[in-house]
Amino acid sequence: MADAFESRIDIFLRMRPIEKNLASYEVDHDDGRVNWVVPRQAAIGIVNHQRERYSFTFNGILDTDCKQDLVFETVARKVVLGALDGFNGTIFAYGQTGSGKTYTITGGTERYVDRGIIPRAISLIYSELANRSDNCFSIHFSYMEIYNETGYDLLNPDHETKSLEDLPKVVLLEDDDTRIHLRNLSAHLAMNEEEALNLLFMGDTNRMISSTPMNMASSRSHCIFTACIEARKTGEDVVRKSKLHLVDLAGSERVSKTGVDGQILREAKYINLSLHFLEQVIIALQEKSQGKSRTHIPYRNSMMTSVLRDSIGGNCRTVMIANVSIAQEQLEETISTCRFAQRVA
Ligand code: ADP
Ligand code: MG
Repeated sequence: MADAFESRIDIFLRMRPIEKNLASYEVDHDDGRVNWVVPRQAAIGIVNHQRERYSFTFNGILDTDCKQDLVFETVARKVVLGALDGFNGTIFAYGQTGSGKTYTITGGTERYVDRGIIPRAISLIYSELANRSDNCFSIHFSYMEIYNETGYDLLNPDHETKSLEDLPKVVLLEDDDTRIHLRNLSAHLAMNEEEALNLLFMGDTNRMISSTPMNMASSRSHCIFTACIEARKTGEDVVRKSKLHLVDLAGSERVSKTGVDGQILREAKYINLSLHFLEQVIIALQEKSQGKSRTHIPYRNSMMTSVLRDSIGGNCRTVMIANVSIAQEQLEETISTCRFAQRVA
């Protein structure tokens, strides 16, 4: 069987379940059965209200009944294990607000089975470390939010007492080797799963607190949860470094220019631009990996692509999950998300 990572960036479609008995539009799988990991064989057809037919293909489709554990196994396990082996990796969730991005990346908080990719990745990392005793590992975590192209540290302990405006902004610095460093973004050593989960919990709490004063719903910002992994073989000096980024992107829905206030339009402008720059970077990387002449990758255009520049494409393992709703009234946004996924595939 072909390796699921033979293309540089793998794209999966995840369909959010809706209440039973709600009308949904026609969705037909290529053969009535979903093909999970075999690349390029999972397709869906969508018929819109004008009876126009669209068809999209993905590396895999995560159907409405696909649970969190299977999502993790299908899209994330290999990326997480790769990071422990020294390969940088990134997993994105893209889609309109309400399509299940946060559920996919972080998960629900009420039931253990609803845990998303981040807590499952943490669990896998620490259980793997126990099996890899010939290496000495240290893992630091960071959690950053990007709102209107400004970065904030979600693990800054001052978050609880200060408002967002008074917190230091994350600053991008580039060294002589064009490597990016982030000033004002803290990195926290976690010795075990519990300490790492506490950091996630702290960041998620700060994400919710900080959204209120500026009237900023968390769906208007991008969030990047990062594990920096350092490994050293017992008895050797060389330290191998790798990074794993788990990214919950801002809602991709189009905002109509009528009837919304200036702040929402401003936010929408930043979100559209940053998603557009992300798309450009991914397309340039795909072209480069196919040996097309273009070599310039426009990382510098946005904060997100600058932060992720050493962790997407090339030797990295990159996965994009396109989250969609199957509700009739979301059809146009669903098609728009599928088209984005198709453009970057
Ligand atoms: P987004 O982050 O894209 O705005 P959410 O992840 O917050 O969307 O999802 C919206 C709602 O739908 C939440 O209440 C979430 O728990 C629920 N939800 C999303 N995806 C699923 C799923 N696959 N199974 C069950 N509930 C889901
Ligand atoms: Mg969300």
